Amino acid sequence: MISKLPNVGTTIFTVMSALANEHQAINLGQGFPDYPMSETLTELVAKAMKDGFNQYFPMAGYPPLLEAIAEKVFKLYGTHLDPMTEITITPGGTYAIYSAITAIVNKGDEVIVFEPAYDSYIPNIEVNGGIAIRIPLQHPSYSIDWEAVKLAITSKTKMIIINSPHNPTGALLGENDIQELRKIVAETNIYIVSDEVYEHLIYDNLLHLSLLKCPDLMERTFVCFSFGKVYNCTGWKIGYCIAPEELTKEFRKVHQFNCFSVNSPIQAALAIHLKNEEEYRNLSTILQKKRDYFRELMKATPLKVIPSHGSYFELYSYEGLSSEKETVIAERLVKECGVAVIPTSAFYQDATDNKVIRFCFAKKESTLEEAVNRLRKIKY
Ligand code: PMP
Repeated sequence: MISKLPNVGTTIFTVMSALANEHQAINLGQGFPDYPMSETLTELVAKAMKDGFNQYFPMAGYPPLLEAIAEKVFKLYGTHLDPMTEITITPGGTYAIYSAITAIVNKGDEVIVFEPAYDSYIPNIEVNGGIAIRIPLQHPSYSIDWEAVKLAITSKTKMIIINSPHNPTGALLGENDIQELRKIVAETNIYIVSDEVYEHLIYDNLLHLSLLKCPDLMERTFVCFSFGKVYNCTGWKIGYCIAPEELTKEFRKVHQFNCFSVNSPIQAALAIHLKNEEEYRNLSTILQKKRDYFRELMKATPLKVIPSHGSYFELYSYEGLSSEKETVIAERLVKECGVAVIPTSAFYQDATDNKVIRFCFAKKESTLEEAVNRLRKIKY
């Protein structure tokens, strides 16, 4: 058999989580909270099931949920959306990104991806016959080198994928980045996928620069979101994609025959729960406290912080402490200290190794304390 994805193996998250289980390690590798989600929301889902919301909803999503999302977008970003033609509910953010790429990318098309990159992007491009053009973010700021982007554009460039707040680095795009992006795509037919699943996890009084605020860019953009990151329920796998009507039509052609419609009771519950603005507006404060607490605890280790301004993650460098590869350090951390982390090299196709590992700080204080206690024991 000729594999459609010859370069794809088991993801690092599966490998590290299995190792974490085997060694009963604290899992600061995978990005998921270890504290409970809102009981109001779980009760709303239970009620929706009891109330009979158990059959297929419309393909694009439950209209009251689409309306609630449009309302939220207007409140946050001042943008008017047509809920029925510009928003599609999806089984998670990853699926939304996959569907946008699949709707647009044909064989031989080039797609610009910045590395380190969320691990689904490149296989999503390649399964569609596209070619990923990888541009490294500038270590250690992890900012975009726009000159490199200009040089990478060819007549085959079909799409650029951006992600802010960024996984795994916690870097954010600034006004200047949006300006540069604008200049590069002007007068071209390049599409954009903007992965904004961490829109509410943003720190240091910084603002999330959503492409939803840029009407000129939105004409060519799919913006992807995840409810899992907003409501501490990553296992629910529900999200949505916002794109102009013409792009949404193409997106839905893919979605219609891949999933058709997303589970009804959760959509019914979210349609009500999303109206509670406070819950998502408070997220930054809650998570920033965790980031700051973790950062403070980590001062007891020799690892150096590469400050995160958003997402669930913070990178730490062990440069100068050890010349071992990130994968080796990550494996030793699980086996010798009982803490699972992710080597940042896993987010590069060529396994670029800057001696940097990723920690997820979306955990209870007690988990972070115990993890750092264990981390102090390792000899580099
Ligand atoms: N994009 C990024 C950058 C992510 O980190 C994640 C979650 N790990 C997603 C998209 C997708 O989230 P979901 O679980 O909703 O598919």
